[in-house]
Amino acid sequence: MRKGIVFVISGPSGAGKGTVAKGIVDTLDNIGFSISATNRAPRVGEVEGKSYYFVSNERFDEMIKNDEFLEYVDKYKNKYGTPKSSVYDLIDRGKDVILDVETIGAANIKKAMPDAVSIFILPPSLSILKQRLINRGTETPELVEIRFSQVCDEIACAHEYDYIVVNVDKEKCLRAVVSIIEAERRKGSRNEELPGLVLSGDTISD
Ligand code: 5GP
Repeated sequence: MRKGIVFVISGPSGAGKGTVAKGIVDTLDNIGFSISATNRAPRVGEVEGKSYYFVSNERFDEMIKNDEFLEYVDKYKNKYGTPKSSVYDLIDRGKDVILDVETIGAANIKKAMPDAVSIFILPPSLSILKQRLINRGTETPELVEIRFSQVCDEIACAHEYDYIVVNVDKEKCLRAVVSIIEAERRKGSRNEELPGLVLSGDTISD
């Protein structure tokens, strides 16, 4: 059984990463969402153990001490981290995993797992991004400003990603990410055992 592939979706806050990640899990088979831990308060509609593991600041620090995170960051006045178990529980069972992380976390994951596929979701313009952040209504004006103040630095590293997808239209953006995942799954280097199976007389499915 091949190990699952790690897909890292990143980009600035408000770019639409969460919508893409959810769309991928709803659209494709054999891929799960990596649930992060955070010390921020849940928003209306967010579900413990599905949106995030919502933990206290003390518990978050304990998780750092126990080396439970693949990566973590202190950003936007909150802490966010990817528990190793959220990724390894899936890829060790041959399932692909999709992570929704900000840019520092994405760079750290790529360093730790060079095989991971990184995808940058780029907004069509700064003004559209700001409007999306405001319209989302999940942050106070002060927090919108804090998030927006980081956007230029975040976008400046987009060229380091394996792929850039511009999110003009949700559906088109999702389709582009689906096609990236489908292409990555078919890479020869990830399927080295397949020709041998056919040559040995097995029948394989697609
Ligand atoms: P939000 O508070 O809007 O849910 O998330 C804020 C930012 O944190 C988003 O850009 C999201 O991608 C990022 N984020 C969520 N979970 C993680 C994580 O585990 N690690 C890192 N580095 N960033 C995360």
